[in-house]
Amino acid sequence: MLDETPTVTEQPCPTCDGTGYNPAARLLFRLWYRHLHADAPGLLTAFSFPTALREFAATILASRRAWSEQLDQADVDALVENDRLWDFTRRPHTPDEERLWAAHGWYWSPGPQRYRPTAAEVNAACRAYPIHDGINAYLCVRARLARWDMGDTCPRCRGTAVIPGGAAP
Ligand SMILES: [Zn+2]
Repeated sequence: MLDETPTVTEQPCPTCDGTGYNPAARLLFRLWYRHLHADAPGLLTAFSFPTALREFAATILASRRAWSEQLDQADVDALVENDRLWDFTRRPHTPDEERLWAAHGWYWSPGPQRYRPTAAEVNAACRAYPIHDGINAYLCVRARLARWDMGDTCPRCRGTAVIPGGAAP
């Protein structure tokens, strides 16, 4: 029988608190969720960020509303391009489409995507019922960082969230 005792111990990466994300991504996740806004100032103090990200954070925090409720069109486009927001992209929008959906018994069409919603439509829906999940949050974080020529990965653990052999000081 093989000895299955692990020979390498792993510790949560202290640089990213075991998230695998760099400080910029961690800041954006805190902006996405209203209940995490209280954690944002600590990150803003602890790390240096590009001006565009600092200004975005200041705007969201001052609004006292979640980023997820006030997406811009580029955020929405990133979600559509990743085949999210089916309540908009795969639902009927015209009488002809209504008949087509009914004839097939579709709730969501099997594709292709039918419609690209505006940010205003998506934000209005978000305030009415839960339309986003953690995947949407991640896609918007990643896309926004990419627009600022930034990645989302912790430089120390390279996104694995752990340090093999334990964390060196
Ligand atoms: Zn890390």
